[in-house]
Amino acid sequence: MRRTEETDWAAEGWERLAPRAGRRRLPGWDCTVGLVVGDRAALLVDAGSTLREGAELREQTRRLLRGGPGRVREVTHVALTHAHFDHVMGASVFGTARVYGAAGIGAVLTAGREELRADAVRHGVAPDDAARAAEALASPGVEVTGSLSLDLGGLVAVLADVGPGHTRNDLAVLVPGEPAVVFCGDLVEESGEPQAGPDAEALRWPFAVDRLLGLGGAGAVYVPGHGAVVDAGFLREQRVVLGRLR
Ligand SMILES: [Zn+2]
Repeated sequence: MRRTEETDWAAEGWERLAPRAGRRRLPGWDCTVGLVVGDRAALLVDAGSTLREGAELREQTRRLLRGGPGRVREVTHVALTHAHFDHVMGASVFGTARVYGAAGIGAVLTAGREELRADAVRHGVAPDDAARAAEALASPGVEVTGSLSLDLGGLVAVLADVGPGHTRNDLAVLVPGEPAVVFCGDLVEESGEPQAGPDAEALRWPFAVDRLLGLGGAGAVYVPGHGAVVDAGFLREQRVVLGRLR
């Protein structure tokens, strides 16, 4: 039988970070989404800013998974790095996927959905799109306290509750390998200064960066929520900047 050719990730606008992990910088807010591919399961890291963007990601990840290393053909798990609209509002289109977030995020996504809707509109999302996405938000199936190992088949990703910092519910994802990849959410930002909004825990943020460094080590590729991938040295410098936030 003829082997299905693997889809070219770069042609789809994705950046391959390791043999089984890649990411795309979404238009609009330059928000990163990640994809981690195991033999039996595929993990999406963050889900876009609207239901339309989520649906586009669902179709695109199906193409990326076609002919990939395993038998998995669609996203089976979704990890939400934190409850900001540009990272979570597309999550509900991944209906059968198991969704993970840091402990406490469920209340922000449900009781706090009006705030998320308003924030999306403030940032330029069409009011109808924001309302529909906010209405569809649900608590993750699993809230992670400490860390959780997720066996994707031939690859065990680690979800770690590394916050608080950028928000009160920050989750990072470690993909072990050569190189190891750490999806940092907005605890790390390359394209601008770290954004400390009203829900940030500025005094505790530097310790979240320490936990990211502990997770990935000196040689990992660190993927910020916005901007180009960085190394451990960049995180150490950003930790100094964060130490000045009050
Ligand atoms: Zn954010």
